[in-house]
Amino acid sequence: GAGPGAPDLITRRGAALLQTADCIIYAGSLVNPALLGLAGPDCAIYNSAEMTLEQVLAVMKENEAVHKTTVRLHTGDPCLYGAIREQMDALDAMGIAYDDTPGVSSFCGAAAALNGVSQTVIITRMEGRTPVPEGERLAALAAHGATMVIFLSIGLIGRVQDALLQGAYTAATPAAVVYKATWPEQKIVHCTVGTLAESTRAAGITKTALIVVGDFLAAQYDRSKLYDPAFTTEFRRGTDR
Ligand code: SAH
Repeated sequence: GAGPGAPDLITRRGAALLQTADCIIYAGSLVNPALLGLAGPDCAIYNSAEMTLEQVLAVMKENEAVHKTTVRLHTGDPCLYGAIREQMDALDAMGIAYDDTPGVSSFCGAAAALNGVSQTVIITRMEGRTPVPEGERLAALAAHGATMVIFLSIGLIGRVQDALLQGAYTAATPAAVVYKATWPEQKIVHCTVGTLAESTRAAGITKTALIVVGDFLAAQYDRSKLYDPAFTTEFRRGTDR
């Protein structure tokens, strides 16, 4: 996991792996190229944006055959839309050992930029050229009215807005679009579900963005019990005792 963009948001483990890799295959459409500066002078570097799964696996196999280590560098955390299961299954079939090093997801970068309060977060995407299971369509998930973080869908913003309005949100529900969270060029658009498409277009945002909706940004929220002077916990006696 490369982290969301800022090069110092990779984990120490991730950075150490980049420094010692013989080969790095990075997701060039999203990973900050500054991270490649950690690679040693003899490291072979491939951009997976221009490769198929078969080509990625062939590079890994070649390196393994001569006892070299490959880092497959995914943006954010690999478990979110990283298409890693198919890689792991293929590596298992080839008898090649691997390890998954977590990263800071872009949704954590967006959360850090937004200062919201939320109980439940649904992480999903809008169905586009790639379908989603029927029960997981955006309009169905929107019925919960929870906070939703929508990946991979900024290019479908009009359809996203329509689907959200079919659920529990109203045109007045707070929404935000976070472009390039944690990058120097990070941009945040605060709007409502009703103005989501219009505001995104007006800001000129067409890619590398998360859509976040729900009452998470509302001015009204309940203070935590955990830090309430009255509340007794396992570690602290409150004034309620
Ligand atoms: N594994 C990644 C997500 C990969 S899918 C993660 O954990 O973040 C690619 C999508 O992630 C993009 O279309 C965009 O919606 C989102 N994304 C990735 N990096 C981002 C960033 N820095 N700011 C906002 N959205 C980002």
